Amino acid sequence: MSNPKIYLSSPHMGGNEQNFVAEAFSTNWIAPLGPNVTGFEADIQKYLGEQNYVAALSSGTAALHLALILLGVKAGDEVICQSMTFSASANPIVYLGAKPIFIDSEEDTWNICPKFLEEAIKDRIAKGKKPKAIIAVHLYGMPYKHDAIKKVADAYGIPILEDSAEALGSSYNGKKCGTLGDISILSFNGNKIITTSGGGALVARNSEQKDKAVFLATQARDDAPHYQHSHIGYNYRMSNVCAGIGRGQMEVLDAHVGLRRAMHTFYKEMFHDIPGIDVFEEPSFEYFSNHWLSCILIDEKVAGFTNEELRLAFAQENIECRPLWKPMHLQPIFADAPYYGEEVAENLFEKGLCLPSGSNLTVTEKEKINGVFKHFIEN
Ligand SMILES: *Cc1c(COP(=O)(O)O)cnc(C)c1O
Repeated sequence: MSNPKIYLSSPHMGGNEQNFVAEAFSTNWIAPLGPNVTGFEADIQKYLGEQNYVAALSSGTAALHLALILLGVKAGDEVICQSMTFSASANPIVYLGAKPIFIDSEEDTWNICPKFLEEAIKDRIAKGKKPKAIIAVHLYGMPYKHDAIKKVADAYGIPILEDSAEALGSSYNGKKCGTLGDISILSFNGNKIITTSGGGALVARNSEQKDKAVFLATQARDDAPHYQHSHIGYNYRMSNVCAGIGRGQMEVLDAHVGLRRAMHTFYKEMFHDIPGIDVFEEPSFEYFSNHWLSCILIDEKVAGFTNEELRLAFAQENIECRPLWKPMHLQPIFADAPYYGEEVAENLFEKGLCLPSGSNLTVTEKEKINGVFKHFIEN
């Protein structure tokens, strides 16, 4: 009997994507510019609010790289980064020859801890260097503690680069994620809340910032008939074909957020009478998560099993689960980077599990997930 895989998070097309892509073909706009790129940027801008200026790029990582350049990060600078995140948040710091300084999470949102952030800033200044930027991440779609983080950042005059790769559709106090930082980024990778197959965006707060991002993303050509350069450029623009997928996806973004949130409710019900399992949820009414991924923490002493045992039980039935992001300060490549915090992120990593969360999971697939879990608990 076939046993099709249930994925953690897979692409979910709305229906209109192919029409936009077909238009790119019929008009021969098979290039890193064209009407879909402009249209996709306008769609995101409309969604986030017109005071935001969106540059569609080849990836979220490219957007982080350009955002750091726009914030003036140079070789030898220090940049603060949330430790618990995907490595793409931190790698662009190293691309620029700058040095990452990692910060622990707090327990409510699993994101950058304001207390350790301030401790780190004070200590780095005492050691002779004020950090150039703070990279704060909305992990799994959960907004970071924006007011508290911004208060610390403002007190020291350090800009925030908001990594909203996982949080399009989330909001904090009614303000949309992607609009909260001094500069922000989004990702449209295949597993994200919406996808362009691969892609990202830089969200700027003014048009000059956006224009500069587009300039750098298109090889930094000066205004001349020949190829003239006074800056180092990059090839980071989004293709018009991919942007067509994005335009179709924007039509279903809110519906897909609703479906991801319904997956979260499904897990709340599935685990509600299971001792030792906590479903990750918004700490208070200020937070609205897109629940890009639904996550749980398992207390082995109470539950009687570990996150890894549950992951393997699901894997055996072809259901994909995954440990939480392994904190950057525990990664071999960042072993020498300074770290400020205790063991909050480490504990989350040790106890946590991400569950299948796609907006396209069927009733049958949910029944299977529930059945496999019931069977696991009974044995
Ligand atoms: C996916 C992701 C990125 C990188 O985005 P890409 O489009 O895959 O380059 C950056 N930060 C976080 C937190 C992510 O989840």
